[in-house]
Amino acid sequence: MPQELKLPFASITQLAEDLWVLEEMGSNIFIVKGTERVLILDTAYGLTDLKAAAAALCGDLPVVLVNSHAHPDHNAGNIQFDRVYVGRYDEPNSHKVYEQADKDHLIAFMGDRLKAYPFDPEAWIPGPAPQAEPLTEGDVLDIGGLRFTVLETPGHTLGSIALYEPDRRWLFTGDTVLTWEVWGQLANSAALRIYAQSLDHMAEYADRVDAVFPAHTTAGTPYILPPRVLQIYAEGTRKIVEGKVTGRPYTEINPRFDYAEYVHFEIGGVAYDPKRI
Ligand SMILES: [Zn+2]
Ligand SMILES: [Zn+2]
Repeated sequence: MPQELKLPFASITQLAEDLWVLEEMGSNIFIVKGTERVLILDTAYGLTDLKAAAAALCGDLPVVLVNSHAHPDHNAGNIQFDRVYVGRYDEPNSHKVYEQADKDHLIAFMGDRLKAYPFDPEAWIPGPAPQAEPLTEGDVLDIGGLRFTVLETPGHTLGSIALYEPDRRWLFTGDTVLTWEVWGQLANSAALRIYAQSLDHMAEYADRVDAVFPAHTTAGTPYILPPRVLQIYAEGTRKIVEGKVTGRPYTEINPRFDYAEYVHFEIGGVAYDPKRI
């Protein structure tokens, strides 16, 4: 890492010659260097100067900013850029202006993780990019040498997307595949059977992928998951949809969602609303 790069709120890990992950409060920001452009996937809580980070890692190349989906733990730093590419059904949620109550809510969401850092709430300005460009299935983001194909994966949110890079055999899943239960129980989540279809769609790529990159990490969970996680998720969720597996009350591990159930898989799992299967 270059000496001048200071990341008070993030850790940085190089995953490949041209791929880095900045982890900010458990949200993963991926930075990929192409020959002509830099792709930044997600902006986490907006605590990190991502233009400076990209410049320090990749030199003076234009940035293509993409969001895996429009949740504030992935897009609050979009304000640092002129434009963001986001799944078409999450585009409406990509224009959110943060009032004080929203900031308070996000601070509560970051919780104890924040206490280890020199956080000044006055200096923190989360916000949207002025322009949001909708992406659809099959769109390609070409950064020179690397070409990312968009997969639409509604579930966690309606507009969630994954990015597939065929030469490197990479798949970036956003919050659609994680190392703990994916939240499919939210008001703006798709019904579970739609999520199951998205997981089937991603599992078609399992033999074309060597590395799966989820959008969250906690201490002790890896940045790179094996491709079989795609089948584990698809099969595990299918069993719930078909009524072969019944979830447990989510209040056992998360008291916030008293209507939800959850199932854990060999890797990860899903939380869902049993009335919305
Ligand atoms: Zn999310
Ligand atoms: Zn998330």
